[in-house]
Amino acid sequence: MTERLYYHDSYLRAFAAEVVDATGGGTTVYLDRTAFYPTSGGQPFDTGSISGVAVRDVVDEDDRIAHHLAGPLPAGRVECTVDWRRRFDHMQQHTGQHLLSAVLSEQFALHTVSFHLGPDSATIDLEGGGIDGRTIEEAERRANEIVSENRPVRIEFQHAAEAQGLRKASEREGTLRIISIGGLDRSACGGTHVRATGEIGVILIRKLEKVRQATRVEFLCGGRAVRRARADFSALSQVAQSFSAPLDETPALVAAQLETAKAAEKARRKLELEVATYEGEALYDATPPGPDGIRRHTCHLVSGSMEALRAVAQSFTAQPRAVFAATLESPASILLATSADAGVDAGQVLKNALSTAGGRGGGTARMAQGSVPEAALLKDLVGRLAG
Ligand SMILES: [Zn+2]
Repeated sequence: MTERLYYHDSYLRAFAAEVVDATGGGTTVYLDRTAFYPTSGGQPFDTGSISGVAVRDVVDEDDRIAHHLAGPLPAGRVECTVDWRRRFDHMQQHTGQHLLSAVLSEQFALHTVSFHLGPDSATIDLEGGGIDGRTIEEAERRANEIVSENRPVRIEFQHAAEAQGLRKASEREGTLRIISIGGLDRSACGGTHVRATGEIGVILIRKLEKVRQATRVEFLCGGRAVRRARADFSALSQVAQSFSAPLDETPALVAAQLETAKAAEKARRKLELEVATYEGEALYDATPPGPDGIRRHTCHLVSGSMEALRAVAQSFTAQPRAVFAATLESPASILLATSADAGVDAGQVLKNALSTAGGRGGGTARMAQGSVPEAALLKDLVGRLAG
């Protein structure tokens, strides 16, 4: 059975131990005692080194803890070092989670159902959906207040039958390890925590997301919160710089710019349609009627918009006895429009032609369009359409 040193002292980062068992030719070792935390309860494993060999993974095997190493290690006495930057970061996030979950539970009756600590951010899932942003902001404010009160965070061991006032009933039997935040919370937990709330540092909530029956809250504590705020500030500063405006004025400026862009796009489309109308009329005038008195225009566009093409076709076939067939290379598509007196059902003709080319499409008797699998098929198609 491995003695778990981190149960009693989360700040122990260098220790001596004895290798009591090994597998994989010495690349997985079992120690008589360890301060390396194994992945469990939402908190990832510690890294570091054992007699100079890097620790790659730490796995809880109930009675024993397995240390997976980068290379083989001989049996005997070893000196161990826990990567303190990684561990302390985990302690900040994990204790921050206890605090945040306690505040959400106490003040807002929002209960934490799960916790995940990732490399960039941590999340808790709260029971139920539809939690609004203001509630979460208020919880963030209150949690940070408790951080600045620097309340003690203590480790106690108590028998499950005697443990009172736990935030969440524990399913474990026997002795429980209880983490308490002064005057606020008692939770059964095997993780590593800071010794006072002040060490959590600032708590920053970022994202609320509905996940199935729960609401996922993303948060950052301490060093992570500061790094994230710095990255946010840099990104926003770049936006502000491109507007040559103070940062606080950029949301309104961005909104105004979007409105302007939308209006400009609307005006552009209106003009495009007007031009298309003139183009359709001019084309009609320039197209001599065939022996049957029908004016037929066919064209092939390498690039352009189907929308503009439709407008030209509409204007062309608004005149008497007219048939307009056009193709667009990318995406490979085809259009057929006819005047009411041309005696051609555009939808029907296009559908028949497309079925032989393996394309898809349809429309009304006056205007139809479709697409074909490849542009090479278009040329043959348009000839058949114009008849
Ligand atoms: Zn914990």
